[in-house]
Amino acid sequence: MKRFGHLRVAALVLLPFVLFQIVSPEAITQAAENRTVEGRLERRFDDSFDGKGSTSYYLNIGEERLELVSLGGIPEVRTGSRIRVRGRMRRGKLHVEEATVVETASATTALGDQHQLVMLFNFQDAPGNKPWTASYVQDLLLNQVSTYWQSVSYGQAWFTGDFTGWYTIPISSTDCQSSMKLAAENGARALGFNPDNYSHKIYIYPSGGCRSTGGSTWTARDSSGNFRSDVFLCGTCTTYSLGHECGHTLDLSHSNTLNCNGSTFGSNCTHVEYGDDYDIMGYYNTGAVNAYQRDFAGWLGTRIQTVTADGDFALSPLSVADTNLKALRIPQSYDPVTNSTTYFYVECRQPVGYDSFLSSYPGVTGGVLIRLGTIGSDVNKLILGSELLDGTPTTTGANEALPVGRSFTDSAIPVTISVLSVSSAGATVSVRFSGPTCLPSIPSVAINPSASAPAAPGTSVSYTVTITNNNSSSCAASGFNLQASVPSGWTASFANPSLTISPGASASTTMTVGSPSSAGSGSYNVGVTSTNSAYPAFAGSNSALQNLATALSVTVSTDRPNYTRKQSVVMTANVSANGSAAQGASVSFTMTKANGATVTQSAVTGSNGSASVRFQLKRADPPGSYRGRGAATEGGLSGNAITNFTVQ
Ligand SMILES: [Zn+2]
Repeated sequence: MKRFGHLRVAALVLLPFVLFQIVSPEAITQAAENRTVEGRLERRFDDSFDGKGSTSYYLNIGEERLELVSLGGIPEVRTGSRIRVRGRMRRGKLHVEEATVVETASATTALGDQHQLVMLFNFQDAPGNKPWTASYVQDLLLNQVSTYWQSVSYGQAWFTGDFTGWYTIPISSTDCQSSMKLAAENGARALGFNPDNYSHKIYIYPSGGCRSTGGSTWTARDSSGNFRSDVFLCGTCTTYSLGHECGHTLDLSHSNTLNCNGSTFGSNCTHVEYGDDYDIMGYYNTGAVNAYQRDFAGWLGTRIQTVTADGDFALSPLSVADTNLKALRIPQSYDPVTNSTTYFYVECRQPVGYDSFLSSYPGVTGGVLIRLGTIGSDVNKLILGSELLDGTPTTTGANEALPVGRSFTDSAIPVTISVLSVSSAGATVSVRFSGPTCLPSIPSVAINPSASAPAAPGTSVSYTVTITNNNSSSCAASGFNLQASVPSGWTASFANPSLTISPGASASTTMTVGSPSSAGSGSYNVGVTSTNSAYPAFAGSNSALQNLATALSVTVSTDRPNYTRKQSVVMTANVSANGSAAQGASVSFTMTKANGATVTQSAVTGSNGSASVRFQLKRADPPGSYRGRGAATEGGLSGNAITNFTVQ
């Protein structure tokens, strides 16, 4: 048995890969040396199914398997490609300094029957530990998982298998050094299966001892160029966990997110492994695998369109397995050295089929999802899998869709993606390469006051009208024409009937509305419509009430009936018109003393129609009967009232 020693195998949670016996003792003596080696690229995906995962690259050079570090030097990634690497060994890993492609692997790994040998075994210290029945595991692969991949691949990939049933391997669950893989395959042989005849193998066993729950998948190509995979499922066997690992056996990477700190996309972004919660290659659900993954697998055909010119496109919901257009890909960058193109992928998700769970995600279904993904051979980008962008980056929550009426612009291209409509039948998306696109929007109209103070028929009332330009920031300033709507026989005019306003800004003008002297008491609607002169279809309106009355009703009172000459008299007037409090009425208060002398003060009514003043009595004031009077005027209306009190 070869030892792994310095490879720090123990630091890796999932142990199946130790069984590959990959490093010869000679490799240890070569640490820190320069090496130039040639071999086939292999990948290992580790999924602990707790939201964490990792991908590692290895170079299989026949007698050993070297983990590669500094992938920047690797020009080719498709698993199984033959590359020559020059680098330096450090701590058992090959730090790549230069690499060249010798032979590119074929891309057709995800088509047709994915026939598996499924080994179901436990350990000699717990031979009765069988967390799942053999028939459950068989149904899971042949029906649940296979049906899922058959659906999302439009019938182009499916899974079949030969199943060993349960057996016990002659190593203990606490034995982390012996080769579990070798023991498992020997056990299968004893039952009449020959693992050597299978390109795809699945090892399913209970967790415990030194084996933590999780999944792990190795992908490689043999010397004949055949794609090979080994799935290790430890202590978990669900549609998600088996389906996810089976996705890796199709050479698929993870569905991730790109967190761009308040922006949809930019230079200040962080890759979040698994962050895409909406498909099986992300974290913990069996949603329909996204358009990038399907494109990478080669399943989309005419269902995807590469967009390099302006157009409007109708997208069918991704999870409906028909032949309609499912996705757009818009070139974002191209690397001629690796012949790799990174695209923006645009897709529409609706709550149907494997996406039924999205019925409670309006922030996903109410627009389109945009992802970044690379097709080609740039390992540094392919390792990123798909990266979901956030179409509403300033709000948190499951609302990554770019919603209807909103645009995303990558000014570096430039390209603007706008969502014109969304329904259960799909989405219509506009793509424009002319830079930021102006999205006009209905302007807001505000009228102040919303209800006028009472005014006499035949007088004029002024309002402040404020227009807000709601167009997208990429629009030019717009002219907004104002139109008043008033009852027949009335007049209306604007101090400025056309306002020029920048997107997001507001401007105000005064509207003066006159009523005929023949109009009766009551409340009349006074409306304003604001039309964007460049986009006449976008008009906003609002209205206010103009109150007419023929007189003000006034009551006046004092805070007590009798006063001494050291006290002060608080006199209050309540003013109303047509039964409603009259705000803003001017009230002149007059106190007439017992000797006929008068003192006058004035005040304006508040929103409750009330106004008060305070008269300070003087030692020299005559005692006797006093009178208070309140005379109110507003809008050409008037009214008055009196009250009496005594001073001693
Ligand atoms: Zn994974």
